[in-house]
Amino acid sequence: MTQAELIKKINHLKKEKNAIVLAHCYQRPEIDFVADFVGDSLSLSHKASSVDADIILFAGVTFMAETAKILSFEKKVLYPNKDAGCLMADMINLDMLNNFKKQHSGMPVVCYVNSSAEIKANSDICCTSANAIEVVKSLNTEKVLFVPDRGLGSYVNSMLKDTEVICFSGCCPIHMTITPKDIQAVKEKYPDAKVLVHPECSLDVIQMADCVGSTTKIMEYAKNSSDKQFIIVTEKGVVDRLNRDYPEKEFVLGSEKAICQNMKCNTLEDILYSLENECYEVNLDENVAKAARSSIERMLAI
Ligand code: 13P
Ligand code: SF4
Repeated sequence: MTQAELIKKINHLKKEKNAIVLAHCYQRPEIDFVADFVGDSLSLSHKASSVDADIILFAGVTFMAETAKILSFEKKVLYPNKDAGCLMADMINLDMLNNFKKQHSGMPVVCYVNSSAEIKANSDICCTSANAIEVVKSLNTEKVLFVPDRGLGSYVNSMLKDTEVICFSGCCPIHMTITPKDIQAVKEKYPDAKVLVHPECSLDVIQMADCVGSTTKIMEYAKNSSDKQFIIVTEKGVVDRLNRDYPEKEFVLGSEKAICQNMKCNTLEDILYSLENECYEVNLDENVAKAARSSIERMLAI
């Protein structure tokens, strides 16, 4: 089937089944042709909690589809690839979380949205890379535990004077392997370029940034800036998107290592198969989903 035929079939099935496709910015560019909404984790969570559809197909990694299910439990939520997990989310399980809590008893737990439903259900509040500082501040305590991402947690810690953020040891292997040397090498070719960095990176990379932020913040900065060249230090999908949307500007990837293969798993063929067969459905325990929902709703209320 040609790409045009696939797109036509998917869009027809969406109408027939009253289905909606939500897609993360890191997805392959052609997914945009069938997506009703493309965004970062925070905007997709907002969208998932308010869409009017019978089926939500989530083109992203598995925790994102789970988050949509948590927020719209009565809806059928599908992921096109059930093995497309987030490497960071898989770095913590409930036993590990309980041990971490035991080592630091009495402290509130903030969990990054890149985590399983079970981890969210056993945390006090969720956050995304777009609101992590505000979420930690809102707790108004001297110390908080932050899981699973030591990258984002350390960044939040560096930005707050009155709260110590104690981080679990997880990380995003894609963002964490980017080094200051990688950025320096690109800077030598583009000395005037602004450096925009996702906070899952290490602190020494973050220190080189003109702007630190979530996918949306990076894209907004690039859109509104009068500068012409940008080094984008996050997943390649963001660079592809920016080069497509703003051809008058130039966007360069901070490191060739910044490709999340799991995010690139989903193809138009998978989406068609998923909609046709209504698979793979996200199934969560109702009590776990309920507790996870409280943690996400506390975040959305900020
Ligand atoms: P955003 O919160 O910016 O969408 O990032 C999610 C993610 O997985 C980054 O690697
Ligand atoms: Fe997870 Fe990293 Fe991929 Fe984001 S880029 S989905 S944090 S593995």
